[in-house]
Amino acid sequence: MDDLIAGYRRFRAAGWPERRQVFENLAEEGQRPKTLVVACVDSRVDPGVIFDAAPGQLLTVRNVANLVPPYAPDMAYHGTSAALEFGVCVLEVAHLVVLGHGQCGGVGALLRGAPSSASDFVANWMSIAEPARVTAMRCESVEARQQLCECEVVKVSLANLMTFPWIAERVADGRLTLHGAWFAIRTGELMLLDAAGDFMAAA
Ligand SMILES: [Zn+2]
Repeated sequence: MDDLIAGYRRFRAAGWPERRQVFENLAEEGQRPKTLVVACVDSRVDPGVIFDAAPGQLLTVRNVANLVPPYAPDMAYHGTSAALEFGVCVLEVAHLVVLGHGQCGGVGALLRGAPSSASDFVANWMSIAEPARVTAMRCESVEARQQLCECEVVKVSLANLMTFPWIAERVADGRLTLHGAWFAIRTGELMLLDAAGDFMAAA
């Protein structure tokens, strides 16, 4: 905890005075983020850092392997779906980004099995991405299979987003645009999913 407190002290000394006005305005007027990002819990893939975002700019939901489950309004505890509902229906974000990334441990668990120490939830959660695994298994090399699967997981999440009626409705009438992206940890480069279904370097 000491390193967190040290970080908090740096924030109070430098970050807070610098951004005090921004925080005060956000407290006064409430948040109006234009973009919701679905990202992975991975500590190396922070949407705020990658998009150099200010407080109030991004609504972020993070889970293992940036997965969106299919629309299933039942009595189970749907953390990701609740965040989507809040961002889309209440805050009315205009953009929704699914951000995949390289060296994703969740995708590794999907391809090679979850670690035995994580047997309660991870494997079942990752089963959402089974279609991505099937596609990726066509690759010969382990590296290519991993990266293809990470990209296919983004496509699975985007397809599942369209099963939410209030998302499909807003996409149809132009109020909401969906985007797919993949971040390379080693090089810091971002790829964007184009209309043809290919991931291309962001300009
Ligand atoms: Zn990940």
